[in-house]
Amino acid sequence: MIDVQDKHIVVIGAARSGLAAALLLKRQGADLFVSDNGPITPSVKSALADQAIPFEEKGHSREAEQADFVVLSPGVPTEAPVVQHYVQSGKPVFSELEVASWFNQRSIVAVTGSNGKTTVTNWLDHTWTLAGLAHRTAGNIGHAFSETINVDAEQHKGDVLLEVSSFQLDHISSFHPHISLLLNITPDHLDRYENDFAKYAAAKFRITENQSAGDWFIYNYDDPTIREHVETLKKNEDAPRLLAFSNQQEIEASGGAFVRDEKIILKVNQEEEVLMPISDVKLSGKHNLNNGLATALAARASEIKNDVIRESLSTFEGVEHRLEYVRTVNGVRYVNDSKATNINAVWYALDSFNVPVTLILGGRDKGNDYSELAGQIREKVHTIIAIGEARPMIEEQLKTVVPHFKTADTMNEAVRMGKRSAKRGEVVLLSPACSSFDMYDNYKDRGNEFKKAVSRL
Ligand code: ADP
Repeated sequence: MIDVQDKHIVVIGAARSGLAAALLLKRQGADLFVSDNGPITPSVKSALADQAIPFEEKGHSREAEQADFVVLSPGVPTEAPVVQHYVQSGKPVFSELEVASWFNQRSIVAVTGSNGKTTVTNWLDHTWTLAGLAHRTAGNIGHAFSETINVDAEQHKGDVLLEVSSFQLDHISSFHPHISLLLNITPDHLDRYENDFAKYAAAKFRITENQSAGDWFIYNYDDPTIREHVETLKKNEDAPRLLAFSNQQEIEASGGAFVRDEKIILKVNQEEEVLMPISDVKLSGKHNLNNGLATALAARASEIKNDVIRESLSTFEGVEHRLEYVRTVNGVRYVNDSKATNINAVWYALDSFNVPVTLILGGRDKGNDYSELAGQIREKVHTIIAIGEARPMIEEQLKTVVPHFKTADTMNEAVRMGKRSAKRGEVVLLSPACSSFDMYDNYKDRGNEFKKAVSRL
């Protein structure tokens, strides 16, 4: 932790987490300047002005370059010239997550991974609520971590359940979760890591960097990249306690959660307990079983009783835009998975259905290799409806894999095409594998458009 009193601190990026960090640091007595290379929204401007925090927008001036240290918003890449200026002049660059942790007095449960962060963070929230434990949920979802740091000490009670992105982990120094969860590491955001998977994975592993023997690390036993990291961790005498989860194999490690004979087994202190049949888990899909196992382990590490964990796993309904059931029309189920913005998420979406699927795919391409989906598509999908900028790439890589390949200009058209192609008992699935920015403000808009189009059928 750095003493911030009277320090001159520049915050780069004035979206939600940049604003939250600026307000927190101001309360701690620092002298702030906020700089954004794009426009700043009127509400952020007025919040800054209210606290007499100077700011600039649509570019970084020389003034932005004078700082004792810098707080970098997760949306700003480390390669940005203004950031490189600080790096080269030896000025510390911290993420909002790091800065908030200096003033945090709650015990931290931190969730990271390429996919499933929001689902698991919400699932933890549901579990903690059922257990009657005081807590706050923050990070990428809802509130920024900085917003949970209140002036009123009474409010520091309980745990903070944090969704943590690799961009936030890129600039930590002392951030220290009591329980960390690493769900999976598959290619995503590689554009921010010089197209180097090892660099992206290394950012995720930083979640354990400041953990020690009194802490917990909960990890995916089936992920080879993570297993390698665990082998390195084990060499450290002060390593956190390890809990592994797997939906594919029994855990050899000392503790964890896995499936045997269609039942969830918890292994804690080498003792095995049958938790519940997997058919009682409300959310469908193998990936959600993994998410549930990870949640169950975090709950056990927090001494939450098995009865509560069972209740949580059998009642959690999932999060909007993630394999969200919308409606059944003429016997066809419509499912909104707009948040599937990479190939891995689509793979798991398809894996979770055992009936034929009409798949709406596309948006802004992120350098995807769609052919990685060919196996699942051959097995499950009879019609692809491609939308958005990625249409030519999808057509080139997948047209020959499906009996019917179509393209649509709008979501409405795509959904109407879906209606014509799907038969009773089948599914129409929006699971785009792409970002939404070619046609929408964000994935939520895209998902809402899909739902609106379905409601018009
Ligand atoms: P994140 O917050 O990491 O982006 P979300 O929970 O929002 O993750 O889910 C994003 C997408 O990934 C959704 O399409 C969801 O169905 C899928 N998904 C959720 N959990 C997993 C998982 N464990 N493995 C792979 N895909 C997942």
